[in-house]
This record gives sequence, C-alpha cells and structure tokens, in this order.
Amino acid sequence: MDYQRASGPGVGQSVGFATLKIDGERVASRRIDIRLDADNWSGDALPHELSHVVLADRFLGKRIPHWANEGMSVLAESTTKQSTRIAALQRSLARGLSYETADLFQLTTFPRPGYHDAFYGQSALAVRSLVERGTPTQFLSFIEVALDAGYGHALHKVYKIQSVDKLEWLRREDFADLAPIWELSQPDLRTKLAVSENQ
Ligand SMILES: [Zn+2]
Repeated sequence: MDYQRASGPGVGQSVGFATLKIDGERVASRRIDIRLDADNWSGDALPHELSHVVLADRFLGKRIPHWANEGMSVLAESTTKQSTRIAALQRSLARGLSYETADLFQLTTFPRPGYHDAFYGQSALAVRSLVERGTPTQFLSFIEVALDAGYGHALHKVYKIQSVDKLEWLRREDFADLAPIWELSQPDLRTKLAVSENQ
C-alpha cells in the first residue's frame, strides 16, 4: 500500500507514522509507515517512529504526554536532523512563537499552525535537559509520577526541583550545556535565545 493511501488525507507533511492496535492489556499489532523518498529516512523517520512504538509499549494503558513522546522520538533522530530542528526553533522564537514550559507539558493535541517547530524543538530540549539531570530511567519514572500526581509533585520527587516555573531550561544557563551535545550549527543560538527573551 502506498504511503498516502495508508495514511489518509490528514498526514500532511509528515514522513512517517506508527500505528499500534491495542487489545486489552497488550499490543496486538505494531506498524510503521515511512515515505521512502524522505531524506535519510533510515536515520531520521525510522528511529523516530520506532521510539513511538517502544514508548507506547512502555506506557501501555497510559497516555504518555505529547511533549515527552515527541521529545524522546526527536532525540532518536540524527544530529543533522536535530540541528535542523534547532534552527527551526530558533526562527520560531525570533517570531515570538514558543511555549511556556507549563503550557508545553499540558498540551494534549498537535500544535497550532505556526507552533510546529517550537513544539518539536522545545519538547526535545525539555527531555534532554531532564534526562541529563539523572538517568533515562529516572526520566521515565518522572513521567509516570507526573501522570499520577502532576508535574509539580513529580519534579520535586524525582529531580528535587520545586516547581515547573523553576524549569527555565530553554532560555537560561542550562541551554549552554545542551549546545555541544546537539552539535549546533549556530553557535550564537544561545545569545539569540537570550535576546528573544528580553523582547
Ligand atoms: Zn513523532
């Protein structure tokens, strides 16, 4: 079956998607559709969609938050693709299109038009920032605690952070630690982020 027909008219500009059929407490089937004409599909779209499949298994019966699901999947992509996403986030920030952390964490639908780049970039940076405070396993516990008891409680319990407001990772000093890992092609990104904050 070709990609457009398999995915239906709502697929838009995406290059891949994962479909899971859940039967009670178990996953009855897992399927990944990828556009084979997409750039570097085996290094970007495939690991991205595989992450969604693995996470759906890990959070079976629960609703994994949108930002965590997409953020972790973006981090599975190549560093080249991640740099592209950061550049897109940078342009989005320059236009004043970004999320407050609390709003990002509560998002339950796909981002509004215009916020796509901010959503993917910020989600990935938020995940990376938290993972680096501990271990990947700790991050998954954080999400599970948050699902049961809210982000405020989860941040305090797992990371000893007092509230979501204290998680100003995106435009403050934490971002400097992220930059080398992301192999940014824009070394002045942090300066620009700081500028956009002051506008
Ligand atoms: Zn995705």
